[in-house]
Amino acid sequence: MPFRAPLTNHHADGTDCPPHHKQTSSGKPLHLDCPGRAYAQAICSCGGWELKQSGKGYVNESRNRHLASHVAQGPKVRRDLHRLDGS
Ligand SMILES: [Zn+2]
Ligand SMILES: [Zn+2]
Repeated sequence: MPFRAPLTNHHADGTDCPPHHKQTSSGKPLHLDCPGRAYAQAICSCGGWELKQSGKGYVNESRNRHLASHVAQGPKVRRDLHRLDGS
């Protein structure tokens, strides 16, 4: 079962900064109701991993690395099961 760890953006008060809150390339909010993005957060559906950082690039990178670790675990688990079956 594939895991998901969607990345979300948040305002300083913890509320979501939805995708329609556009930012300039320098990170300034363009939306009238938007106080600006304070941090990005990613929570994995495995329930064992989450990350909250001001750097969106870092969160995205760590998220991909974590998801890749799930993929890497798959074949190993299957090998272990085969070993149990064969003994
Ligand atoms: Zn916003
Ligand atoms: Zn996970």
